[in-house]
Amino acid sequence: MFFALPALYGSEEVRAISDRLDPLTNVDSAVKAKHIRDIRAAQESDTCPWCGGKLVTRRGKYGEFLGCSSYPRCKFKRNITR
Ligand SMILES: [Zn+2]
Repeated sequence: MFFALPALYGSEEVRAISDRLDPLTNVDSAVKAKHIRDIRAAQESDTCPWCGGKLVTRRGKYGEFLGCSSYPRCKFKRNITR
C-alpha cells in the first residue's frame, strides 16, 4: 500500500515563516558587538551574569572564589582573577 505524504508546508508558508525569522537572525553587527560587550562587562564586574545578583567573595575547599549572593538559588561562581 502506498500513501502519498502531504507536504508539511507550501512554498507560501515557507516564505511567510522565513520573513518572520529573518529580522530575528539578521541583526546589525553593531548590535551583536554591543551584546558581546555587555556580556564581557558583566563577567568582569561584580554582578552575576546569570541572575544579575551580586557576587561575593567566598572561601571554599580550594581557596577563595567569587560566588553569587543568590546561592543556592543561583550556583554561579568564578575564580578570583588578580
Ligand atoms: Zn546569580
